[in-house]
Formats: sequence, structure tokens, C-alpha cells
Amino acid sequence: MSESTAESGVGSRHAEDRLARREGTPAFDALEHELDRWAALDRQATFWLRDDDACRDSPALRRLLGLAMAHDVPVALAVIPALADATLGEVVARHAGVTLLQHGYAHRNHAVPGERSGELGRERSVLHRLDELARGRDYLVRAFAGRFAPILVPPWNRIGDDLLPHLAGAGFSGLSRFGPRNAREAAAALAEVNAHVDPIAWRRERQFIGAGVAVERLVAHLRARREHACDGDEATGLLTHHLVFDDAAWDFVDELLRRTRRHRAATWCDAAQASGPACVTPGASCVSRRDPHLRPISMNRT
Ligand SMILES: [Zn+2]
Repeated sequence: MSESTAESGVGSRHAEDRLARREGTPAFDALEHELDRWAALDRQATFWLRDDDACRDSPALRRLLGLAMAHDVPVALAVIPALADATLGEVVARHAGVTLLQHGYAHRNHAVPGERSGELGRERSVLHRLDELARGRDYLVRAFAGRFAPILVPPWNRIGDDLLPHLAGAGFSGLSRFGPRNAREAAAALAEVNAHVDPIAWRRERQFIGAGVAVERLVAHLRARREHACDGDEATGLLTHHLVFDDAAWDFVDELLRRTRRHRAATWCDAAQASGPACVTPGASCVSRRDPHLRPISMNRT
């Protein structure tokens, strides 16, 4: 990925972020301060990591999985069923703590010209979309067996409301879009757990927004949860796209995982925990009350 002259400000910010970290004035101070507030309230700030558009093995995917494994943080890969190949299964099998979610069917835009992109909008009938999703789901169940969690991640985070009441009956237990959820369930028996921070500026040539801005957005969601301005029980979701990340974006994720893993009020959940009662029951957390340092995920490094 190249940085255009129009994006030179972003490039400068990358350099500043890296320099700041080396000089000991990290952009992450605000996050640590926010987590300290959670600790003072004896609350666990829950996080989860969703990575979109996984199809096959690649150096970028290995980098993501390696980073997550090094920090013992679970990853939810949103896989495009129609585009996935056998190499994805091979690389996932070599990494612990990876759950696979369903990212639509073929990530194909069916929106009418002039409308925002979407694969699962009302342009096509409910039956047509359910049939396609069922084919994708069948493939993921067969190919990934125990690693698959029946959570639907609609491409472009958009889905027609008319489809929502049918998803539980089609075998989905969860839905993941973008932004604070309105309710714990998007429809009956369909838990919603969203991503909240996307560190890529898609309309600025897919550049990393910089660690400072990304941390600001994480803190904004955590603060809103703490102050009950949104659902305080919804885990804060970091959305990554391994295929478009540059070194600065990877550095940000590395530092974020490192800092949060060592903070006693931060807990990384897997997709099932993030969408399940362990992370949504008021007053509960993914962490054992007996040992505040115990992490919810037991990572098997074999
Ligand atoms: Zn996508």
C-alpha cells in the first residue's frame, strides 16, 4: 500500500505515533486512565477482536494470528464462505484461540446503483438470501467444524431488517454489525455483538487512522459504557482487516494487546463469550471473581 501526497498527514501521524512510543509518551495513556476508572469501580472492561474478509492463508493473516497468539488474545475471523479455500483451514489449525464467523456469502454488492453497498439488503427476497446464507453456513460447518460459531457478520455491516427475524431459525445465534447495539438481541434468540472501532479510513485510500485517533475511539466507547450512555455490557469490539493493514496499524494492535493484557480491568473475550451471557449479565464478567488475573480463555498452544 502506498501513501499518496494527499495522505501525507496520516503518514506523518504514523511516524509521530511510533516516535512517541519510543520516547515513552505513548498515545495509550488515555486508555490506561479509562481502564483505571473501570478498576476503581471493580468492573471488567471486556473487549473482543473481529477480523473481516478472511478467505485464505497469507502473510498478513499469519501476522494477525501470530500477534494474537503471542498475547493470548482470541480472534474471531469473519470468513467469506464462497471465497474461502483449504489453506484457510490449514493456517487456522495451527493457531489456538481462533473462532470462525460467517461473513455473508460471497461479499457481493447487490445494492442498486447510488445506494450504499450491501449483500443482504432488501433488493433480494428473504428466501433468496436465506438460501445463500444456508449454503455458506453448511460449508463453514463442514470445513471448520468445532471452530465455527454461528454468528453472522453482514458484509459492509449492513443487513435488511426483514431478514433478522429469520436468522435464529436458520441456525444463527448471533449477529455482528458496527457501532453500539440498541439491544442485546437484534431479534428473538439472536444476540448482537458489534465491532466499535475500525482503525482504517476507507475513504482515505484505506490508510491507518493513527494510534492516537484509534485509542480515542476505544476510550469513547469504554467511557460511554461506563457512563451508561450505551449498553455497558456490550464488549468493545476492535475491527481489523488483515489484508489492508500496514506496519503502523499492526504496531497499534500489538501495543493495544500488550497494554490491555497487563491491565487488571481489561479482559479479551472470544466471540461466544462476547455474544453470550458471560459478557452481558449485569455485574458479571468473563473473569473469575476468585482470581482477578485469571483470563477467560485457556489458550492451548499445541
Ligand atoms: Zn467485509
